[in-house]
Order: sequence, then structure tokens, then C-alpha cells
Amino acid sequence: MGTSAGDVLEGTGVSPGVGHGPALRLARSVPEPPTGGYEGDAGAEADRALEAMEATAQDLSARGERAGGQAQEVLSAQALMARDPALADDVRRRVGEGAAAARAVADAFAVYRDMLASAGEYMAARVADLDDVRDRIVARLMGVPVPGVPESDTPFVLVAADLAPADTATLDPATVLAFVTREGGPTSHSAILARSLGLPAVVAGEAADRITDGTELLVDGTGGVVVADPTGEQVERATARQAAREAAAAGSSGPGSTADGHRVPLLANIGGPKDLPAALENGAEGVGLYRTEFLFLDRGEAPGREEQVEAYRTVLDAFPAGSKVVVRTLDAGADKPLAFLPPPGEEPNPALGVRGLRMMRRHPEMLSSQLSALAEAADGAQAVLNVMAPMVTDAEDAAWFAERARESGIEHAGVMVEVPAAALGARHLARSADFFSIGTNDLTQYACAADREAGGLGRFQDPWQPAVLELIAATARAAAAADRPCGVCGEAAADPLLACVLVGTGVTTLSMGASALPLVRAALSRATLEECKAAASAALDAPGVDEAKRAAREALSGVAELGL
Ligand code: PEP
Ligand code: MG
Repeated sequence: MGTSAGDVLEGTGVSPGVGHGPALRLARSVPEPPTGGYEGDAGAEADRALEAMEATAQDLSARGERAGGQAQEVLSAQALMARDPALADDVRRRVGEGAAAARAVADAFAVYRDMLASAGEYMAARVADLDDVRDRIVARLMGVPVPGVPESDTPFVLVAADLAPADTATLDPATVLAFVTREGGPTSHSAILARSLGLPAVVAGEAADRITDGTELLVDGTGGVVVADPTGEQVERATARQAAREAAAAGSSGPGSTADGHRVPLLANIGGPKDLPAALENGAEGVGLYRTEFLFLDRGEAPGREEQVEAYRTVLDAFPAGSKVVVRTLDAGADKPLAFLPPPGEEPNPALGVRGLRMMRRHPEMLSSQLSALAEAADGAQAVLNVMAPMVTDAEDAAWFAERARESGIEHAGVMVEVPAAALGARHLARSADFFSIGTNDLTQYACAADREAGGLGRFQDPWQPAVLELIAATARAAAAADRPCGVCGEAAADPLLACVLVGTGVTTLSMGASALPLVRAALSRATLEECKAAASAALDAPGVDEAKRAAREALSGVAELGL
């Protein structure tokens, strides 16, 4: 096992850029505490356990304060778990009965875990957070590394089997130079987060397991390659390529357009007003996807009307007159469970169950109150409000949503195309939808039958897959025939080479995490519309992902010069 100097580990680049530094592995597993007793007296052993619980709570709170926002809420809830008085009593009792501190903690948490797991869908989703708290306390007591992102004063490349959103939420981009993971695809949450932090990331498959702590790694998140103990020349070449990309990105400004002036508005994906500064700094011309569920997550009930109107209004007011702000109505269910909107029953496969618009059709009053809050926010705003529904499947869905939207006073009502049935039926949906926005993350998941969160399926979680490109092209064609705008707001739009291909298929706007905007703008400005069309037709002719990328690079030589 291990790696040798110059070993090249091929993988999938999921976040662009180049990082170079020593590897540090994420400690994930904590050994099972032994069942034997302890030396010394029970009081001292119990104190040791309770001190470890308190120290863990303090550490979690401190990490939360550093992270802020949603991560802080998750981490504060975890700190409360570590300080739970009933758990502390149970640990003390178990130590009194002869269990060593680590064993007593593991057993007390196991009881709590069973309670949580059987307390309904929403609480069950907290089990992973509870397990993480237990592992942190047990690791402290056993003197083994605390699981999670290692603490280091010097910069390093983080290597892990996989990264949970909670691991990535508190990463400090000043010390983490890049990620290499075994699992995860371009649409996994950790990849999305890596891109939003601007950290290069490669999913290297099983090769990632061979990397040991301290090995020097050169990570090229654009090319999807990791080199172990690289030569100076390899580092120089990769760094020069990255510098060229950064210079191109820094030099790009103004509205998005191809080299020959074909306009493609470049919009930002946001989760709420907190994302506006980055969107504006990176030159977003509007918002292509406002994921409103972030306003609703981790709450006992829906936010009130005033709170909603204010959040929507803040976003609309951030952009000049005439800009587009596309708001997505609540996308609850599957990977975004909401406490107050539980699924109708046990779902064997939540991604194929009641989620998105399907959930709203069961709670039309919730949709109507969101739509009317949106209409109120848009009243008098200069930016143009567009509202769309997630997980629309057929023309009936589209018509139902458009009718609700119009009843509430929304002028522009569209649909997300995330389900292959919607892509193939786009001409029928166009009868009631004013616009389309292709959600390539879910479209890829459903087209390739590969859960976007599952590990080991990276090859199928790639929007360059021929079937996904066909579905996008079919949607764009149907939209053009019906004279409807057709944007892309999935992660595919953030890939500069693919962005040009998308424009070539007839896509009219591109929306992405703000940090991706400059390089996509630069790539687009280096290709003519004809070249984009040629790249799209060559990519659509290719039998697989690699061939499609190669064909696109050939057709887009000005873009490929940037090492994309
Ligand atoms: C998508 O599915 O591509 C999309 C943009 O929606 P989300 O990632 O929020 O599911
Ligand atoms: Mg989606």
C-alpha cells in the first residue's frame, strides 16, 4: 500500500484549481471502547467522563462560532447533546456500576440513539449528529484522534473516504489547500461546498485510500488528477496553468457573452440574502436560483409572512432594474426534509417519493402563502421576479403550478426541468410554463439512476454523460420552438467548458455558485456562438464522458488553452 514518488492517481475533478502540500487524513473511525472496568475510584472516573463531555461541548460551540450561519445552528445543537443532563446522569450511573468512562459514554449514547431513531423522520435525521458527538467524546477518553477535520497550524491537503457536510462546513480555506476523497460525485454536497469555498477537489476512488499522512500531493481539481510526491517541474506546470486561469477569471468583467457578442446572462445561485455580497462581487447579473428552503430548514414551523417578504425583497432590491431574480418555491422532501412537512408515510426511496412540487400539491395552502409573499415582495421592486417549481414531472404539474402562481399575482411562472419525463415532455410543459430552468444535479441523478449523495457512483453523477446532454438539448430545443427562455441552474453551469457546450445547445442563461462566475465568463468570452454550437454537436455525438470532453476541447480551442 501507500504511494510512490510520481504516482499519478486519476480521478474526477469536482472543484477546479490547483493545490499542493502534505496530506492529512480525516480520522473517521473511533475504536470500540473495551468492556472491562477501570482502576481507581468511581467518582474520579465519572468526573473524567463528564469533563470529556463538557470539553467536547465547548469545542463544538467554538467551531460553531467560527463557522457562523447554518453550520453554527447544527454545531450548537450538537453541543447541547453533549451537555444533556439525562445523558450525564446515565453515564455517572454506568460508571458507578463498574463501566470505564468510554464504555459508559458509548452505552448511554446507544440508549439515546434508539430513542431518537424511533422518534420520527426528522429526529432520526439527527442520529448521525449524535453519533458524531459520541465519537468525539469517546476519542477524547481513549486518547485517539478526534474524528473530523484534523487541526493543523500549517496548510495541508485533506484526504478522506468521504466528507459529511458538517465536516466541510467548518473548513478553514486558509489551512486546507485541497480535498482528495474516495467517494462523492460532482453533485454531492461536499463538492458543491468545495466549489463555494474555492477549494480544488478530486474524487480519486480507491486510490485515495493509499495516500498516507505527510505524502506531498499535487491536486489538480480541473484536470481531476492527483500526483504523489510530484517533481518541481510538475508543480510549476500545474501552477502556471492555474495562474493563467486565474488571470483570465480576474480579467473577465461585464455581462456574459460569447466572443462574437451573443448575450448569455450569468446569474448566481443563492440560499438567501447572506449570499448576495459574493454574488455581486463576482458580477452576477441577477439570480438564477434562489433556494428558498434554507429559510425553512431546521425550524418547527414555516417562517411567517413578514419574514418571508423581507428575505425575498432584500434579494430583489440587490439588483438593478430589469435584472432577473428566479425564486424556487419550497423544495421539501428527500435530501431536504422539513420538520413541519413530513413525508406522507414510510418512503422506500425518498428521492423518488413525495418531494418538491409533489409535496406542495399535498399542502397547497403552504405554496399559496409562499407565492403571495413573493408577489408582495415583487410589488414595486425593480428587478423582475420569476418563480419556478422544483420536481415538475408532466404538463399537468406545470399547469397546476402556473395556475396557483397566477392566482397569487405572480407574472412569470416557470418550471425546473429535473426529471427526465419533464425534459422529454418539455413542449407540452411549455403550454403553461413561461420559462424553463434545467436542474442538472437532479436531472443527472434521475437520468443515470444514481443517487446524487451515494458514494462509489461518481461516473454516473456526471452531467457530461451522453444521456444527460441529450435531455438538456431536447429541453433547449423545445423551449426555443415555444419561444421560452431556458436556463441551467445545476452545477453543470459552473463547469466553464460545459457552460459553452450548454450555450451551444441553445441554453439562454447560466446560473451557478458565485465563485464560479468569473471563470465561466472568461471561458464564454473566448468562444464564438458557432464554436459553442460545434462543441455541443460534437459532445452530443460522443459515446461517453471522456470523449465528449475531448470533442468539446477540440471545438473550443480558446477555452481549452486555459487548461480547462
Ligand atoms: C438541481 O437539481 O440541479 C438543482 C439546481 O436543485 P438542487 O441542487 O437544489 O436540488
Ligand atoms: Mg434539484
